[in-house]
Amino acid sequence: MDATEFRRRGREMVDYIADYIEGIEGRQVYPDVEPGYLRPLIPSCAPQEPDAYEDIMKDVEKVIMPGVTHWHSPRFFAYFPTGSSYPAMLADMLCGAIGCIGFSWASSPACTELETVMLDWLGKMLQLPEAFLAEKAGSGGGVIQVVATLGTTSCCSFDRLSEVGPVCNREDLWLHVDAAYAGSAFICPEFRHLLNGVEFADSFNFNPHKWLLVNFDCSAMWVKKRVDLTGAFKLDPVYLQHSHQDSGLITDYRHWQLPLGRRFRSLKMWFVFRMYGVKGLQAHIRKHVQLAHEFESLVRQDPRFEVCAEVTLGLVCFRLKGSNKLNEDLLDRISSAKKIHLVPCHLRGRFVLRFAICARTVEPAHVQQAWAHIQTLASALLEAAQE
Ligand SMILES: *Cc1c(COP(=O)(O)O)cnc(C)c1O
Repeated sequence: MDATEFRRRGREMVDYIADYIEGIEGRQVYPDVEPGYLRPLIPSCAPQEPDAYEDIMKDVEKVIMPGVTHWHSPRFFAYFPTGSSYPAMLADMLCGAIGCIGFSWASSPACTELETVMLDWLGKMLQLPEAFLAEKAGSGGGVIQVVATLGTTSCCSFDRLSEVGPVCNREDLWLHVDAAYAGSAFICPEFRHLLNGVEFADSFNFNPHKWLLVNFDCSAMWVKKRVDLTGAFKLDPVYLQHSHQDSGLITDYRHWQLPLGRRFRSLKMWFVFRMYGVKGLQAHIRKHVQLAHEFESLVRQDPRFEVCAEVTLGLVCFRLKGSNKLNEDLLDRISSAKKIHLVPCHLRGRFVLRFAICARTVEPAHVQQAWAHIQTLASALLEAAQE
């Protein structure tokens, strides 16, 4: 493929992507395929001669799309959201084009410096204590790791940092705070209190790729003392050394991680933060929380159902009053119908359904339709159970 063809195919691909996203509701959210479906659909060896691009794209529809779970469908309510926005996709194209491997400052200075600044931007959006920001970072050490979770995956519950934190500090235990999903919400002042106590933590992590409109993967982690990481991961063969490395002015991210190489991920944060602004991101979070409460109130209006955990952010845990078996059967019916996609969890021995507000494009109508669908399946199930 030369540059002329790339220009043409690139435009086509952008159209394909926009059509895919805008038309995603027309696709069944969960695929019909069985394990092993793909192998018979393609040759058993790579082609000796190049294939035509048209044939590859035809196969995307024929081979790939039938086996795709459409995470960005407004009928997807499983797991947690994973962010998706057009600015992030554009930035990912640019990232692919620059194609640098940012293991040291010298290997691509913009890659390192933008990442440092974006993590500061994001830390400030969350009002993280200054000790976590690169502008202010110091040095030190830590020992055993205790993980407290803000927004657990099963039911979005919150550990009490203000209780566990002082104990960890007193006993010299490393305290890591995992807010993978919930962290994005802390950019809204009304949810920031959920992060109180983070000042006791040694490290803090959340995933902008979950709820902040940044496409996978983008997981942001802050440490109070960067030497805690660089002391463990430092890797300094002479061929990676460069003239600025001991200046104290730069960061070499290869010392912060297990792998050597590093993608230019901060580009997509930069694009998204600038295109949405903090206000746009806050509006996205608030809309999802609002929709979760709307679903919660629908569940509460139906006496056959119960809500099983406090709805704090965008997740509603609910079940039919009755046995675990009954709820497993309900989920089976939902999964077989494939009109919406949900996953379950266990809460204190009870089988519970999780309804997570996921897609960027989900609207009240989708939530209402999903609930009506669940109610219909539940009625049929309860009728069958009575016979
Ligand atoms: C989603 C989630 C994770 C997984 O995060 P990865 O960065 O994909 O490994 C971890 N912890 C919690 C609480 C989560 O919700």
